[in-house]
Amino acid sequence: MFSLKFGGTSMGNAEAIAQTAEIIISHPEKHKVVIVSAMSGVTDLLISAAECATQINKVCYKNYLQQIEEKHITALGELVKNTDLYTEGENFIKSKISGLSGFLHALTVIGEVSPRSNDEIISLGEILSAKLLSLHVKDRNEKTEFISLENIVSDMFEHEHTKADKHFFECFSHKLGKLLTPLLEENITPICTGFFGKIPGGIVNAVGRGYSDFTAALVGKACNATEIQIWTDVSGILSTDPRIVKDAHVIDELSFNEATELANLGAKVIHPQTIWPAVKNDIVVRIKNTMAPNDMGTAITKLGKNSNHSFKSITVQKNITVLTIRSSNMSESGILIDLFQNFALYNISIDLVSTSESSISVTIQDGHRNLSQLITKLEKTYVVEIVHNKSIIAIVGNEMLHNMGVAGRFFSALANAKINIKMISQGANESNISAVIAGKDANNAVKVVHTEFFHTA
Ligand code: ADP
Ligand code: ASP
Ligand code: MG
Repeated sequence: MFSLKFGGTSMGNAEAIAQTAEIIISHPEKHKVVIVSAMSGVTDLLISAAECATQINKVCYKNYLQQIEEKHITALGELVKNTDLYTEGENFIKSKISGLSGFLHALTVIGEVSPRSNDEIISLGEILSAKLLSLHVKDRNEKTEFISLENIVSDMFEHEHTKADKHFFECFSHKLGKLLTPLLEENITPICTGFFGKIPGGIVNAVGRGYSDFTAALVGKACNATEIQIWTDVSGILSTDPRIVKDAHVIDELSFNEATELANLGAKVIHPQTIWPAVKNDIVVRIKNTMAPNDMGTAITKLGKNSNHSFKSITVQKNITVLTIRSSNMSESGILIDLFQNFALYNISIDLVSTSESSISVTIQDGHRNLSQLITKLEKTYVVEIVHNKSIIAIVGNEMLHNMGVAGRFFSALANAKINIKMISQGANESNISAVIAGKDANNAVKVVHTEFFHTA
């Protein structure tokens, strides 16, 4: 069995959806579950609609809903020729948009969007795209069933789970297996929403944007997949972000560990949570290009591939804030615990940490809504310096420290380009070396480090 996930660009318009359907129908694996993202741009439109509904010009949400409706009705017209199926699709789209319009109208009165309401709103993106694809596949006379995962959580877990932790997702995956296995046994291909319900804390807080990759991994685990395929708009995981270095090359194989590091350090091509369900069952994760399906893509496997280079890829994370916390007695025992407990209290996760005798510096994502509360609390005991608009550049690969000179080359390349380093960190499992630099230097840093390690401009 294969779990196949198609991202926003693979669902971007009628042409892309037809190509996605072609991949599903002609796929050599008989048993597969399909998971889809919203049509590209739709989740952003839904978030804008929600923001509108709670702001001064409250009715502007209607414009966003109209754009979303038009986008789906246009694609439906091009994708579904059978009249009954077309009518089913049209009624479905219109009734869902009208339902959301009512929901947003209620929000104009309440004046704020809770994480739960936010989930309710963004769920529509995947509900509409999955329905559209399933109607098109049916129109091509294939056995399929549209499955919305939007209520699977609230049905089962509301009273049992208060945290979206690993245990929660294990139970969730079990539930997915029970839902999907009977369909696979009947040779039906389920087409599921990448959105999977109103989880504790809300999906955007607990999992983050790009959650459909994770859904595909949970489905893969649930149904004992031999492979989880992430179909996107690039031919695999590349040596760096192709928007910064045009001729970045595809990496043919990576280990679970390397892929997790890459995703956590900002390689947007795969959601950071995608790998752990695969690790548990030793399932290959393959990144493939919907527009170039014959390209081999990147295989993510337990051990990866031994290559001459321990370094594999360069990542960059933008919009980073550095907090430097000082105390006259930093070496006193218990200070680190106190600091980390405060971050946990305000639900702010830390990326990098670097300590000295007199201070500790940590990086977090810019724009965290609880940041000012945290600072007020910390300033009661410590001196806190806050610097925004930083970036983290990292080089990633297994056992890099056994490979003499990698760190030296990394820092020299930055120094030669006159890029100042504010903070340095080496991943505890020796699979990354990271530096915090000014945000304005980020793209240049990626270019010079990529040139240093891969000899391309
Ligand atoms: P999807 O909508 O299919 O989930 P995403 O936009 O989430 O696609 O991820 C694919 C994008 O990730 C690529 O178009 C590319 O711009 C970006 N990207 C960033 N870093 C990398 C990398 N190292 N390898 C490949 N793509 C990357
Ligand atoms: N559509 C959602 C997003 O844009 C989820 C996804 O694409 O995986 O974040
Ligand atoms: Mg994605």
